[in-house]
Amino acid sequence: MTPILNVRALVKNFAGLVATDNVDLTVEDGEIHALIGPNGAGKSTLIAQLMGELRPTSGTIELAGRSIDALPTAGRVSLGLARTFQITCLLPDYTVLDNVAIAAQVRSGHSFRFWGDVRTETALREEAMQLLTQVDLQSRANALVVNLSHGEKKQLELAVAIATRPRLLLLDEPMAGLGHVESQQMVATLRGLKNQVSMLLVEHDMEAVFALADRISVLVYGRVIASGTADEIRNDPAVREAYLGEGDELC
Ligand code: ADP
Ligand code: MG
Repeated sequence: MTPILNVRALVKNFAGLVATDNVDLTVEDGEIHALIGPNGAGKSTLIAQLMGELRPTSGTIELAGRSIDALPTAGRVSLGLARTFQITCLLPDYTVLDNVAIAAQVRSGHSFRFWGDVRTETALREEAMQLLTQVDLQSRANALVVNLSHGEKKQLELAVAIATRPRLLLLDEPMAGLGHVESQQMVATLRGLKNQVSMLLVEHDMEAVFALADRISVLVYGRVIASGTADEIRNDPAVREAYLGEGDELC
């Protein structure tokens, strides 16, 4: 089967620094693939290149067997890519529902072109409410974003990302700053989305990674040093030495 994401020989040089060092990476259709590694390993830089926000120095990226190297971000989104950010990125003075409805409108702009305004708005709001239910935020639909807790903002950001109905969702540290209960909530939400979207999950919370990931790749100084199941990664000597620290407990 064609993987949903196929990255080959990707390189990104910043002045004097190799942030992405000949990376090969595949995400299979339906998979949750975790990307872990220490701070500065190049995880966010890799995601930015996948989204077309940052131009690679060399290498190729395919989405569902199709090269996306020449496409800008918007073109990649229409082919089924979406992302969430390490730092939350929402419209603070709008309601929760509006944030999702606006994202849904971007996707469905064409199909609603000939509809009346009221019908369009009703349909978008219904769709937004359904997306909020998927992230367990329906009770906060009319709250202003500025009044949400950090955990609620992370859940909302996820609803905004899936509003474009992506095939592959890139998640940059969705658990960052969350308490234990909020992290568990996020794990449950992501698990619930697994049957509708493949995911590349950048995350430091190893409990969440081991709970969710089908496979894990380990990035160190821009290089993938290991790729495999949770057990393979736990027992990989290079991973233990380079990243997890010899003798450290792995959950
Ligand atoms: P991670 O997300 O794994 O913590 P990053 O992708 O943010 O790592 O950063 C990887 C490396 O690239 C770091 O050394 C960082 O300082 C460097 N870097 C990131 N963005 C830029 C940039 N725009 N210009 C120069 N160096 C950068
Ligand atoms: Mg990062």
